[in-house]
Amino acid sequence: MSVSIAGNFRHYMNNIPPFETNDSWILDLRGEKNKVDPLKPYNFNSELERTRSGHIKKVATIFLTNRECPFRCLMCDLWKNTTDTPVPVGAIPAQIRWALTKLPPSKHLKLYNNGNFFDKQAIPAEDYTEIAQLVASFESLIVECHPRLIDERCLEFSDQIKPEMQMAIGLETVHPQILPKLNKRMDIVDFESAVRFLYKHNIPTRTFILLRPPFLTEKEGVQWAIRSIDFAFETGVECIVIIPTRAGNGAMDWLQSNRYSSPPSISSLEQVLEYGIQLNKGRVFADLWNIKMFSDCSVCFDSRTKRLTNMNLNQHVLPPVNCTCE
Ligand code: SF4
Ligand SMILES: [Zn+2]
Repeated sequence: MSVSIAGNFRHYMNNIPPFETNDSWILDLRGEKNKVDPLKPYNFNSELERTRSGHIKKVATIFLTNRECPFRCLMCDLWKNTTDTPVPVGAIPAQIRWALTKLPPSKHLKLYNNGNFFDKQAIPAEDYTEIAQLVASFESLIVECHPRLIDERCLEFSDQIKPEMQMAIGLETVHPQILPKLNKRMDIVDFESAVRFLYKHNIPTRTFILLRPPFLTEKEGVQWAIRSIDFAFETGVECIVIIPTRAGNGAMDWLQSNRYSSPPSISSLEQVLEYGIQLNKGRVFADLWNIKMFSDCSVCFDSRTKRLTNMNLNQHVLPPVNCTCE
């Protein structure tokens, strides 16, 4: 675990258009934000998930209303449910308290704040103690953060809470030309350093990997998701979530209209999930949110969705779905 492996991908070069993506271009293409209440989470849910211990348990997620993330990633649509200014001290605990009265009982909680939990402008440090009290009955707590904001504050918060803290960090892709175009202002060395830092302090990492980011063909999208999975596990990541790219944030819609991007197919998602699971190096999940948009076959869609759901939960590769659409 001591030698960096982040240099391994520099020799791979695809024919990517010299296309400039930056904050102002991305911001210009955005639509309106949704109206949000700083004292209420904008969403919450409870879903079954395979936990680190291998049991299938209810996992609650609270989507906190929070200040917009200062990074402006090309594929991100989380800004839609954010505030322009920091929420006041006490607002985040109030949101958690409110959501916990609505959610069914569970032992596992995700607090997703549409940005970076350890950004001082996002979650005020003054709220940590109250948050720690609110989550004391859980066994695990997942929070999310950009790799460049992972530091001692994560350890301090982790020490302060009773549940095991797990960190969610977006790797997105290890493609050496696409990652800079995502405007995430990180490279894979940043990612690797953050994961190793957390690993050293016994904080497990889950990461998000994009399936078919812009500028790649379907086949390249699958290949690079697979390379990204390999890299993530080599750095010490414990859990991987594969996220098919989609339009809806302005910039991605523009890229799709201008044929720089296409959503991946549900069968590519199955292929990448199969690859990740058979490695047997950690949990690998396919993100099934709005999964219908990745299939145009009414014959096999339900079977494929069921297969993905079962593979997510059981972490075994299931027999493929055969259909004339392929
Ligand atoms: S760092 Fe995360 S929340 Fe922030 S813009 Fe990028 S993907 Fe969105
Ligand atoms: Zn089909």
